[in-house]
Amino acid sequence: MSFVNELKKVCGTNILLEKKDLYVYAHDTSQNPDNIIIPLAVVFPRNTQEVSKILKILYKYNIPCVPRAQGTNHCGGTRLTRDSVVVHFSKMDKIIEIDKKNLIAKVQPNVVIGDLNKELDKLNLFFPPDPSNLAVSTVGGAISLCAGGPRTFKYGNTKDYVINLEVVLSDGTIVETSKDLAKNVTGYNLTSLFVGSEGTLGLICQATLKLIPKPEQRLLTLAYFDSLEDAAKCVNNVINSGFIPSTLDLLDNNTIKTIEKFNPCGLLTDKEAVLLIELDGFKKSVEYELEILKEILIKSNALKIIQAKNEEENEEIWRARRSSYSAVTQLKPNVVTEDIVVPRSEIVECVKKINEISNKYNITVCIMGHAGDGNIHPNFALDLSCEEEKNNFEKLKDELFAYAISVGGTLSGEHGIGLHKKKYLKAALDCASLDIMKKIKKMFDDKNIINPDKMFNYD
Ligand SMILES: Cc1cc2nc3c(=O)[nH]c(=O)nc-3n(C[C@H](O)[C@H](O)[C@H](O)COP(=O)(O)OP(=O)(O)OC[C@H]3O[C@@H](n4cnc5c(N)ncnc54)[C@H](O)[C@@H]3O)c2cc1C
Repeated sequence: MSFVNELKKVCGTNILLEKKDLYVYAHDTSQNPDNIIIPLAVVFPRNTQEVSKILKILYKYNIPCVPRAQGTNHCGGTRLTRDSVVVHFSKMDKIIEIDKKNLIAKVQPNVVIGDLNKELDKLNLFFPPDPSNLAVSTVGGAISLCAGGPRTFKYGNTKDYVINLEVVLSDGTIVETSKDLAKNVTGYNLTSLFVGSEGTLGLICQATLKLIPKPEQRLLTLAYFDSLEDAAKCVNNVINSGFIPSTLDLLDNNTIKTIEKFNPCGLLTDKEAVLLIELDGFKKSVEYELEILKEILIKSNALKIIQAKNEEENEEIWRARRSSYSAVTQLKPNVVTEDIVVPRSEIVECVKKINEISNKYNITVCIMGHAGDGNIHPNFALDLSCEEEKNNFEKLKDELFAYAISVGGTLSGEHGIGLHKKKYLKAALDCASLDIMKKIKKMFDDKNIINPDKMFNYD
């Protein structure tokens, strides 16, 4: 029997085989029009047992698989590099259990983070990781990339909220990485190994997540500056003042203007930079912190300080901030978002450097970032069908990553390496640690059929 017939036996009608249906799964959010490979098939398993059966078949026939959620990653993580079957998790999208007593949620991988938080909200609970596309980003995708977002500064990123995983390995073996317990140091931390592994070690079929109580109040302050230097200094002044805001996000003037052009929400376009500083916690402590924050902002040369009046206004501003990527997509046919991290003390230089390199190669850039974490996202608007622009962009990236590494920074804080940054990995990692990573990959995936060619090459 051919592998297709065997897959059909497991999946029933939950399989796509027609070229016209498969084409869309050759693409993801990451922009690269070259080398498109259309999948051999796309399968939609409904549970862990089906995933295991599918992987056993692929293992037997030596056929690679690419795990896929919504395909919204920026690193080419769901692109195909060779003839493969896409395992699509859209039919595994149930919240299995929310256990308020033990502050955990058990979910299937394709639960959307925004939807999970809507359910948690009803119980006054909260799952902090908040990639800006949380309206579509899934738990499985976020775990595989160790996604973060603005709140990472106070709450940490996805790795801090994953307690236990059910994973299927390349030969179909089902593994539970830990227990549904708040604490567990019994053996190696296998759970952590899968968080951020970009779907290259196994397929995540269930996750137990840590929850926290929802803060009683959130207060968003917008602080405008007429120089990026002042905004960056202000970030340090806030941090040194003894309390931790939940967000310390920075937008440059180009980003402010682009948001206001396409998704207006009343941001001040004549200012060089704005910080989005959110305080959360008990009402009384937030009010107390707000007084201190205002003093710091004034001392840090903030030109204008605007307070969101209520939760709705809060949400409206965050909606506009989250729409910054889609606003930039209106500037040119392609947008590539980068994700470098630098020491916080380097933020001003980093922003200057990004502008300098972008000017040198004549590429439009809108800069924003989770300034509290030193995680800067330049959104480059360009036309990748123009050969000159494409070549210039390659040179720009070479310089950008070389700069980040030279100041003690790195390639990615939350978007991952995937295909697009793998050529820089050697420069960013210690040789011995890269060697260990390759050994781990080989141990979990002896045939190199689980999301092959992502992060690094097998040999
Ligand atoms: C507009 C926009 C804004 C964004 N903002 C942020 C941000 O602020 N912070 C941030 O951290 N990220 C951000 N992202 C990227 C974000 O990290 C990803 O979009 C998201 O975390 C995962 O997306 P997804 O669910 O579509 O997964 P996909 O893109 O489908 O997959 C992501 C990776 O996980 C693997 N994978 C998916 N499911 C599984 C599974 N069940 N088992 C094993 N491997 C699996 C895939 O092979 C791939 O390598 C943004 C993206 C967009 C488009």
